[in-house]
This record gives sequence, structure tokens and C-alpha cells, in this order.
Amino acid sequence: MIERVPVREGLFEEADGGRLYANRCASCGRVYFPQAPFCFDCLEKEMKEVILSRRGRLYSYTIGRMASTHFQPPYAVGLIDLPEGVRVFAPLVMTEDETYRIGMDMELMIDELWQEDDRQIMGYRFKAVAGSR
Ligand SMILES: [Zn+2]
Repeated sequence: MIERVPVREGLFEEADGGRLYANRCASCGRVYFPQAPFCFDCLEKEMKEVILSRRGRLYSYTIGRMASTHFQPPYAVGLIDLPEGVRVFAPLVMTEDETYRIGMDMELMIDELWQEDDRQIMGYRFKAVAGSR
């Protein structure tokens, strides 16, 4: 029996195709993902939870060509700008014909990141929105 385990608690839920949980400073409005314990800009302690949009734009990306602990090359990682004004670092879906372009529309998905022992480590990725390349 394989157990599904989130890569980190409190980052996301699988509902509705995936939701990322951020928070917003009650004073200056800056949005943080992952959630911040207080605002690093203005030091406000009151933070309100925000569910981020599932779609954004690719700000930048790179293709990893060397093996890392959990990802076999080639693998893609990128920065996605979301409408809430936050830039999210995430692995991108990588297939042989996957070509990314800065500025393209990206969509969130919840996916297995890797397996260890009898656990499936779940996290989030972004993929190109169909028809946006
Ligand atoms: Zn603030």
C-alpha cells in the first residue's frame, strides 16, 4: 500500500485540481508563498490566508541537465507570476517535446514529485496551458 504524503504540510491541497495556500499582509498587502509568519516588508503580524489562482505566466525557467537528489535529468523548474502578485518557484512538467517560452500561460497541477520506500511524495508543478505555446 502506497501512502500519499505532501512534500510539506500546509502548502497545498488536491481539491479542485490543486490549490496553493499563501498569505497576505493585513497592513501592506504583500502576498507570500509559502506562507510567511509575519510580513518581512513592514513587520506586520496579522496575516490572512489566500488561495492563489491556478493560472499564471512563466517569468523564467531552466532545464536541469545533472541529476539531483530526486529528479533525473532533464527536468524543468521555473518561476511563475500569479495574479495575486507573487512569484512561485516550482518544478514544471517535463516531456521530450516540452518547450517552454517566457511569458507563456501556465497552470497548476498536483503531482507525484518522487517516491521513497512505500511513500508517494506529492507536490505541485506547473504545466503549459494547452494552446499557449
Ligand atoms: Zn506588510
